[in-house]
Amino acid sequence: MRRGGQVLIFDADDTLWENNVLFERVIDDFLDWMEHPTLDRAEIRLILDDIEAANAVAHGYGSKIFLRSLAECLSRLRERPATAAESRRIEELAVALLDHRVELIPGVAETLSELGERHELLLLTKGDGDEQQRKIDASALAHHFRSVHIVAEKNVDVYQRLAEEHRLALETTWMIGNSPKSDILPARMAGMNAVFIPNDSTWVLEQAELDPADNGVLRVRRFPELLDHF
Ligand SMILES: [Mg+2]
Repeated sequence: MRRGGQVLIFDADDTLWENNVLFERVIDDFLDWMEHPTLDRAEIRLILDDIEAANAVAHGYGSKIFLRSLAECLSRLRERPATAAESRRIEELAVALLDHRVELIPGVAETLSELGERHELLLLTKGDGDEQQRKIDASALAHHFRSVHIVAEKNVDVYQRLAEEHRLALETTWMIGNSPKSDILPARMAGMNAVFIPNDSTWVLEQAELDPADNGVLRVRRFPELLDHF
């Protein structure tokens, strides 16, 4: 059954376009390159995850911080700083990220067009301001949204501020995204409804347990299925 006249707030990375899979490809290449006498691939990946988690807290998100995490991981494994040649190699591995190519998830543009006829659409994405803006520009999707918000972190305060700023009625407002940690849980804490659209390549740091009994969370498998509900 479709609901009319709702406010739909969309996440961007891994909801509208692929993002984490690009990082995963770079990490695979990095792990191929990082041979270590005692640590295997999975162990090196855990070290990198720890470094990324610490850097996310200290410095935020984005490809520049990711490159820094790779260099720190190399430095920890080699027990010395990365050389200039190694730093160049890391940048070469990450060229697809630095180019800001955007690959839309199938059906996104058509679905947003149709949803925009019946509902008010907003965009809420976290990360480096310039980098997120470049991806939004490359996506050619911005015209679907009444407003676009780029924030450093998506926590309950951000959702509450957005609701106040736009005078949103919480019972008819939905946060739509792939991340339990950044999209679903804080939006629910702020009193909004949520739609969880899992992405096969969601970043490990974005994963969290969702309560299967929470009736305020709708789950859909593919983006175009939003049209069955809204
Ligand atoms: Mg996302």
